[in-house]
Amino acid sequence: MRFTLALATTATLVLSSVTLVPTGATARTRDPGPTATGFGGAVATVDATATAVGLDVLRRGGNAVDAAIAAAATLGVTEPFSAGIGGGGFFVHYDGRTGKVSTIDGRESGPATMTENTFIDPVDGRPYDFAEARVSGLSVGTPGTVATWEAAARQWGTRSLGSLLRPAADVADRGFLVDATFRQQVADNAAAFGQFDSTRELYLPGGAPPTVGSILRNPDLADTYRLIAKRGTGAFYRGPIAADIVETVQHPPVADDPTGTWAYPIRPGGLQLSDLAGYQVRHPEPTRSAYRGLTVYGMSTPSSGGTAVGEALNILERTDLSKEPITQALHRYVESTALSFADRNRYVGAYTPQPVLDRLISDDWASQRACRIDPARAMTKPVPPGDLTATGCTPATVGGPVEQGQSTTNLTVADRWGNIVEYTLTIEQTGGNAMVVPGRGFLLNNELTDFNFAPTQGTAPDPNLPGPNKRPRSSMSPTIVLDDDGKPFLALGTPGGATIITTVLQILVNRIDLGMTLPEAMAAPRASQRNTAGIQAEPAFHERYGPGLEALGHTFAPDVAELGAATAIEFTGHGGMIASAEPARRGGGTAAVVHPRY
Ligand code: GLU
Repeated sequence: MRFTLALATTATLVLSSVTLVPTGATARTRDPGPTATGFGGAVATVDATATAVGLDVLRRGGNAVDAAIAAAATLGVTEPFSAGIGGGGFFVHYDGRTGKVSTIDGRESGPATMTENTFIDPVDGRPYDFAEARVSGLSVGTPGTVATWEAAARQWGTRSLGSLLRPAADVADRGFLVDATFRQQVADNAAAFGQFDSTRELYLPGGAPPTVGSILRNPDLADTYRLIAKRGTGAFYRGPIAADIVETVQHPPVADDPTGTWAYPIRPGGLQLSDLAGYQVRHPEPTRSAYRGLTVYGMSTPSSGGTAVGEALNILERTDLSKEPITQALHRYVESTALSFADRNRYVGAYTPQPVLDRLISDDWASQRACRIDPARAMTKPVPPGDLTATGCTPATVGGPVEQGQSTTNLTVADRWGNIVEYTLTIEQTGGNAMVVPGRGFLLNNELTDFNFAPTQGTAPDPNLPGPNKRPRSSMSPTIVLDDDGKPFLALGTPGGATIITTVLQILVNRIDLGMTLPEAMAAPRASQRNTAGIQAEPAFHERYGPGLEALGHTFAPDVAELGAATAIEFTGHGGMIASAEPARRGGGTAAVVHPRY
């Protein structure tokens, strides 16, 4: 959580709009926190300033799309290692008037020069180490975030994109307080950031990560936002910003006297002006699956999120989890994701044909996969993917890779007209490819490392190999759930690399099946089984549920401190909303509603 510097001026107004409380209310309600209940619109993000900016837009009559764009632009300032205009994302929209769910695929795309061998070292024929590929020009896809904002603002917004960038530009100019999470993210990246003049000038002031409590300003980013506001997105895709992005990729701004030890050569990439000029968002139909009378809408390819969450839900729906003992319910939860990850790894990539996606998310397929789950015994992992041409429980070949990131960010916004935005945006790793575009104040993505560097599926085709103009497979899973009357029930999403899929699923199961309120479902300890030998879990999950699951034959990988950093809004009827962010993970998030009800 971070607060803008100028607490005595505009930011106070903005923040006070979050925290405005009736006379006599307790001090507790003055702190913007992770849960807010009320009506008139709501915002949940990982960051207090971004939430305040989004709420301010709603209070001034903007709609959910306007507020989401303004909040996302602010996250580009205060959460620059997770998201920003150097990256991409997926935007899911529910239209309060028509009831239609639509999506924007603003995923970064590979340059025209990309080939299946882009991440293979020509000298020894082996895939590059991840860090070598990440901190290079090779990993940079054409950013899609600015085009996403433009498309969303045009299609559904009520404000100009320029006006929505202004609050974020002001935050970048004024600066914000560095907190422990921010400092740690820089410290974790110190060696990579130390290789580039532009990055260390901004994020390693005086040669070290900024101290907690110091003010960080980013006037270059303020100017970049203002340039886009003034000249339109053409300045980014066809104008001076495009030229600077291409220059950075093709000639990384390596320092003469790098600080920190970096073991790899820093390779240039093949992104060209024509890649930026030709970039277009896509509008894929959302994935759709039924779950216990609810309808779950998610993101289709190039994200695997919608189909992977949908397949696991279909498998789980075959058992009434609410009637099962907790160990059995969790056993089924981890088994369902092992199966759905096996299928995702084998079949899902940017170009998976629609009939295959439809089959993976069908009840018929779920019955073919669910029959492999033994209530008394964990399956041996990795489980093979299912055979699309077979019926019954016929297995196919091999398992897939493990991916887990801690980067990326998610936000959820709803307005008084019933519109909802669920938006996950990213620059891939925390700190992206570590290169700040000189003079522009934003980091480039390393999204292309989401491709498999080399085939992972044995003799079977790998759906996620690199290719020209191809978008790498994502796990991002912005999700909107409607109730049995077709009215909004829940919107949620999270960062976390491939663990996004399991975290979204776990929050859904917690809320829908396991009797938790939304804030409880968000706070509950998490575990992720992605078809690997051991379950990855937070310590509290392992401690509480480990013995029961181990008795069924499950094993655990070493614990991870935290999984995800989710945001969500639940719709309680008659315009009521519960906005929910993380109480603790990643420093805690901030939820706010326009008219609080205490
Ligand atoms: N690049 C990842 C994806 O698209 C997201 C990274 C993260 O959440 O850490 O799935």
